[in-house]
Amino acid sequence: MSLNIQEQVSMRPYNSLAVDVRARFFVSVASLEQLQAALVWAQQQGVSVLLLGGGSNLVLTADLQVLVIHLQLRGISILSTDAEFTRVAVQAGENWHAFVLWSLAQGLSGLENLSLIPGNVGAAPVQNIGAYGVELKDHLESVLVFDRETALVQRLSNEQCQFAYRDSLFKRESGRRVILSVIFKLPKHASLQLDYGDLRGYLAEQQISAPTPHDVSRAVCEIRAAKLPDPKRLANAGSFFKNPVVTSAHAEQLQKNYPHIVCFAQADGQVKLAAGWLIDQAGWKGVRQGDAAVHAKQALVLVNHGAATGQQILALASQIQADIQQRYGVELEIEPNVIG
Ligand SMILES: Cc1cc2nc3c(=O)[nH]c(=O)nc-3n(C[C@H](O)[C@H](O)[C@H](O)COP(=O)(O)OP(=O)(O)OC[C@H]3O[C@@H](n4cnc5c(N)ncnc54)[C@H](O)[C@@H]3O)c2cc1C
Repeated sequence: MSLNIQEQVSMRPYNSLAVDVRARFFVSVASLEQLQAALVWAQQQGVSVLLLGGGSNLVLTADLQVLVIHLQLRGISILSTDAEFTRVAVQAGENWHAFVLWSLAQGLSGLENLSLIPGNVGAAPVQNIGAYGVELKDHLESVLVFDRETALVQRLSNEQCQFAYRDSLFKRESGRRVILSVIFKLPKHASLQLDYGDLRGYLAEQQISAPTPHDVSRAVCEIRAAKLPDPKRLANAGSFFKNPVVTSAHAEQLQKNYPHIVCFAQADGQVKLAAGWLIDQAGWKGVRQGDAAVHAKQALVLVNHGAATGQQILALASQIQADIQQRYGVELEIEPNVIG
């Protein structure tokens, strides 16, 4: 098995925050056999491994003394179809948004609210990607993984993946399981989720009274493009903080002091707060320290104007976290994976 292992590779093109650190070793793998060979090679060299998809959820803080394995397994196949559902297997290296568009073109629904999320299918289960009231877990049947601890290929059911808000088994036991492919169970008859964010308002504005999944996808793309910076033009990693969840008593107290605070009641009685609102109200929107900055239009997004390091971006994030803790008594957790 021949592997093209490169040395001292700049990671700048491989992370959406465009942080310029070097990987000591770098290899692209397009099959399970190549992945296994790369893992054996890393073990023989005594270096650890970083799994890489599209690099849109990473903060790289130092040169990486590891083997970066860029997962490039490709392919989409229909496994079965009946009157209600189609089951589809998608390889880890497929681009997420391209797959969403493919599913819509097949007349399938369920993923329209997750349109335009950057990255690859293989990383989507890691943080259970979510947007506009839909999460990956709502349409995922199972995941095929290579378990590095047992050296076995294993299928994990939706339940076994232990999905939660921006969280999963894969995030909690980071690096142990390499996701090879994901099986989705997608409905043929759309049941649209429109009750989140600006979606319903946007469709009304466009005078679309009976939207199709395509309409919802287009609406999500336009709303996202207006709100979020395109990483190709302004480097960023999407939402930098998770929306914090607090007790109802804490939320009530905050509502007394801040009547316009944005809250979402949770099924378990707790309350999710909009992190972007807290950061915006605290005056951080547009704050720039060197090339690290809070986006001028969206307080939840930290951006790199050119030469910011991962450390500088994290230093800005720490100041925001300390300020939000002091003002509101709320702990903000960083969403992207910090590596270095
Ligand atoms: C502009 C922008 C908007 C965004 N909007 C959203 C949003 O609305 N909702 C949302 O949930 N996220 C959002 N994100 C975050 C990001 O798009 C997702 O987390 C996405 O799933 C990351 O995919 P990736 O391939 O780029 O992962 P990477 O950044 O390459 O990797 C992320 C993590 O997964 C691990 N990993 C990667 N591939 C595999 C694999 N095959 N097996 C096991 N582990 C793996 C990596 O080691 C790393 O820990 C946004 C990001 C950006 C830049």
